[in-house]
Amino acid sequence: MNLLRLLLLVAAAWLIWQVARQVRRQLSQRPPEIEDDFEPMARCARCGTHLPAKSLNSNGLCGRCSE
Ligand SMILES: [Zn+2]
Repeated sequence: MNLLRLLLLVAAAWLIWQVARQVRRQLSQRPPEIEDDFEPMARCARCGTHLPAKSLNSNGLCGRCSE
């Protein structure tokens, strides 16, 4: 009877460990996805087109207007 209880305890501990590992893996995967979704948008100062802030030059113009 004592052995059965020990086995049950080990099984429960293994189950908790597995769940904790999965939760930790999901949490570590989530931050990059969120960063991808939140790309800052900016408006071209000349034509008013909304573009990712990265594609505007230092004067706030899009590639087409800065040429
Ligand atoms: Zn423009």
